[in-house]
Amino acid sequence: MDLFSELENLGFSGLDNLEIYTEEEKKSSSSVVQEEVHIKTPDELEEDYIYDKSYTCPVCDHDFKSKTMKSNKAKFLNTDIDLRPLYQHIDSVKYDVVACPRCGYAALTRSFGPMTSMQIRKIKEEVSSHYYKNPVNLKTYSYEEAIERGKLALLTAVVKPASDSEKGYICLKIAWLYRGWAEYVQEEDSEGAEFYREKEAVFLKKAYEGMVSARKKESFPICGMDEVTFDYMLAALAYETDAFEVSAKLIGEILVHPKANSRIKDKTRELKNLLKQAVIQKREKK
Ligand SMILES: [Zn+2]
Repeated sequence: MDLFSELENLGFSGLDNLEIYTEEEKKSSSSVVQEEVHIKTPDELEEDYIYDKSYTCPVCDHDFKSKTMKSNKAKFLNTDIDLRPLYQHIDSVKYDVVACPRCGYAALTRSFGPMTSMQIRKIKEEVSSHYYKNPVNLKTYSYEEAIERGKLALLTAVVKPASDSEKGYICLKIAWLYRGWAEYVQEEDSEGAEFYREKEAVFLKKAYEGMVSARKKESFPICGMDEVTFDYMLAALAYETDAFEVSAKLIGEILVHPKANSRIKDKTRELKNLLKQAVIQKREKK
């Protein structure tokens, strides 16, 4: 590249090959670069917290590996109001789905496993026969990839058919992925973030529907949760999807429930405050 071309107007010529730095200076500047400490990108940081876990597909018997979070290494920070877990340097929700790369069978890690022959037949007919994916070798899952896996798990659950709580829980995880994606792009792409938040709202509604139905039909533990924890999560989902009355009723019940521990009661009071603010805001809008 001719670095000095603009100077031709000023009467300079023959500067095409002029080097700015002598050889010695070049060497020293490159060694300075090498000495700089490499600061890891978010993706590189995330890589440290995952490993490849081996699975055998219950549908097609294929052995494959799925990325899994090292739960003993990641530092747990807190949960969102609806119990979405937050870890330092990694969004654990991206690694909650196990998906067979050969046949497309996918499920949340906790429900991945043996099925009836009828279920296997249905999955083969309605998922595997359509499924095709180019093999990818990613070091971490992007939000795009994780949401694709989540939706594959949702499709599998609908075809199986899985319980309403299982379908609802997958919807909740997909909502959390959209929330995570929105947070991830918020600073550089506020329009994109807005788009993902709209998607999040759609899946929160679906999660709420599934959980309401599960509460009526299924017995505890549901999604691995006892009654109090489940009701707390339901109250939070009701709050997030504008079902304020349901949320208020559940909150009242949890706060006097003999089995509610102080941690869940604290969280419930936090939710109660949020709900109060939301109700006031709604009133002011009218
Ligand atoms: Zn398979």
